[in-house]
Amino acid sequence: MRVAVIGGGAMGAATSWRLAKRGVDVVCFDRHSPPHAFGSTHGESRIIRTAYFEGSFYVPLLEEAFAMWRELESVSGSQLLRMTGALYIGSASSEAVVGAQQSAKEHGLDIDVLSAAELRKRYRGHITHDGDVAVLDRQAGILNPEGAVTSMLQLVPEIRRNEHVATVESLLREFDAVVVAAGPWTPELIDWLPLRIERQVHAWLSIARDADWFGRTGFQSSSASRSSSATPTASRLSTDRRSKLGGITTATSPIRRTSGAASTTPTSIRCA
Ligand SMILES: Cc1cc2nc3c(=O)[nH]c(=O)nc-3n(C[C@H](O)[C@H](O)[C@H](O)COP(=O)(O)OP(=O)(O)OC[C@H]3O[C@@H](n4cnc5c(N)ncnc54)[C@H](O)[C@@H]3O)c2cc1C
Repeated sequence: MRVAVIGGGAMGAATSWRLAKRGVDVVCFDRHSPPHAFGSTHGESRIIRTAYFEGSFYVPLLEEAFAMWRELESVSGSQLLRMTGALYIGSASSEAVVGAQQSAKEHGLDIDVLSAAELRKRYRGHITHDGDVAVLDRQAGILNPEGAVTSMLQLVPEIRRNEHVATVESLLREFDAVVVAAGPWTPELIDWLPLRIERQVHAWLSIARDADWFGRTGFQSSSASRSSSATPTASRLSTDRRSKLGGITTATSPIRRTSGAASTTPTSIRCA
């Protein structure tokens, strides 16, 4: 069987890798040369978690994914996944806190539930409000998305870089099946799908050198929720002085925090 995969971002690269592993004759097409800065799979970090508050049905998929990330590390010889744990912070009734505990209960996951006082003591890098509750998801960490794409595509026998596919039909003459993994460009290829493309922005903040509480013991990657209806978002940090806006990398001034100045900390670190 001969399969074309349109897109070499996280989704297309993973699809291509797994198809190639099953012995399928796969060709991955990309309009750019992945990894690149123009799509969603850009940058150095993404959170991976297990106690999914979004729905416990995700948990088996996540557990399977961890094994495959380790497999990819082993065959590529690259470190892609760093286990750090993740905190879900919010009120006791917030979607993140309730949902994470529900997933953990259903699947017997290793979590800790912390009060505001415990959170302040253990993770002083976070701004903690009275009444906050935190769920520590131990099976969570940080993935390197660009590294992952590089590693996965190394295992794909044929990649057609800088090749823009105009239509799905144009490939059906040469291939038995076509997988569309074109990310935000999907509507160009499948115009009947009711998709609305949103721009989402990543920002990496530099950290003051003396902010020792941002080390592994004082800070945890987090999803924070201030109300039961809010959709939590994740904060990510690196010491790299770049901010990445929708795939465009721009230089930016570092935002500095100093130890003990928690009350003046930029709220962008903790997302409501
Ligand atoms: C701000 C932000 C934060 C995120 N945080 C997380 C997180 O913490 N954890 C997590 O798991 N996920 C996170 N995600 C989601 C994750 O990054 C995406 O799900 C993933 O990168 C999507 O990959 P993709 O392959 O679908 O799309 P893309 O990476 O955009 O890849 C699509 C590819 O298709 C190619 N292409 C498009 N059209 C054509 C064509 N006609 N011909 C040839 N090639 C074409 C493009 O060049 C591109 O390389 C985040 C996303 C964003 C934007």
